[in-house]
Amino acid sequence: MKLTVENLTKKYGNFLALDGVSFECDHAEFFSVLGKSGSGKTTLIRIIAGLERPDGGRILFDGKDVLRLPPHRRNAVMVFQNYALFPHLNVFENVAFGLRERRLPEEDIRKTVVQTLTTLGIDDKLYRRVSELSGGQQQRVAIARAIAVNADIVLFDEPLSNLDVTLRREMQKELKSIQRTTRRNFIYITHDQEEALMLSDRLAVLRDGKLFEQGTPEDIYHAPKTFFGAGFIGAANKLLMQRLDKTLLKTDTGFVLKNGEELVGKFFDVVIRPEHLVPVERAGGENVFKASVKERYFKGAFCEFLLDVEGAELVMQTPLSFGAEGFVQVKKFFIFPHE
Ligand code: ADP
Ligand code: MG
Repeated sequence: MKLTVENLTKKYGNFLALDGVSFECDHAEFFSVLGKSGSGKTTLIRIIAGLERPDGGRILFDGKDVLRLPPHRRNAVMVFQNYALFPHLNVFENVAFGLRERRLPEEDIRKTVVQTLTTLGIDDKLYRRVSELSGGQQQRVAIARAIAVNADIVLFDEPLSNLDVTLRREMQKELKSIQRTTRRNFIYITHDQEEALMLSDRLAVLRDGKLFEQGTPEDIYHAPKTFFGAGFIGAANKLLMQRLDKTLLKTDTGFVLKNGEELVGKFFDVVIRPEHLVPVERAGGENVFKASVKERYFKGAFCEFLLDVEGAELVMQTPLSFGAEGFVQVKKFFIFPHE
């Protein structure tokens, strides 16, 4: 199934919640939409599910416009942020719900429910009320309810945000594996950038109703197209810099970077990832600076240093050792015209 979202807009009164959102999700692709609270994520996914109508734009499932279809006639199911389970029903009936809605024979329903719950490792809880289950188990039931329905598109609205960190990490891997085995399109909404990077085949960043930076996690991480995207995905040192001459940039404090290409414009936003700062033996190379350590944080596989580099405060992450003072090289940085 190919999902195409075309130029979607949604207004609440005068407030533009979605502003020309377009993206595609291919068959069996894990596509995430990453954004802060209030960026329009839930609005977007509810429109795809058919729970909300847009003011403009189209939604195509394999090229067919589905905007007129009610939710249960679309080939899509949704896993809600708050699970939206029926507390008075048992696990079996919760998972069977979507299948009954689709009027499948009882025997098929039974088989599918048991099979799905087995996949998710909760087949021993068939007849328990969901109100008696832990948060993690309830989340599994909610996922099972969606997966059991034979829909090509599964829509997730921050499904793991209510779980504690350990359980969340576990469920992330499980979701990825469910997606690989069931080969559905997963549209996954999250505010957790680490989650989006590790799970997605492709992702996009939503900000104030606009979509930025569509691509693979690798593309967006290593070659972001916007300052916002560069700063939002991964850890980032952000600097406002000014053109000093053809290829040199400087901050107010006098930290000077050499750019690989000739600079066009006056002010630039520069992003340096912490791992692109690397300790080196001596002065002299390109973009090598003397640095002094303001703070050091041990993180196990690497250390994080807060450095003073010619008046600029920069975070460095490195597995290499580094004294109170030394030389560091900026191996790579991203540069954008300042807006
Ligand atoms: P997210 O899921 O990313 O937190 P939402 O899609 O829930 O964002 O909301 C996006 C924006 O639209 C928010 O500013 C929110 O206050 C507003 N909004 C959402 N639903 C409604 C509504 N029914 N009426 C008015 N404003 C709404
Ligand atoms: Mg939301």
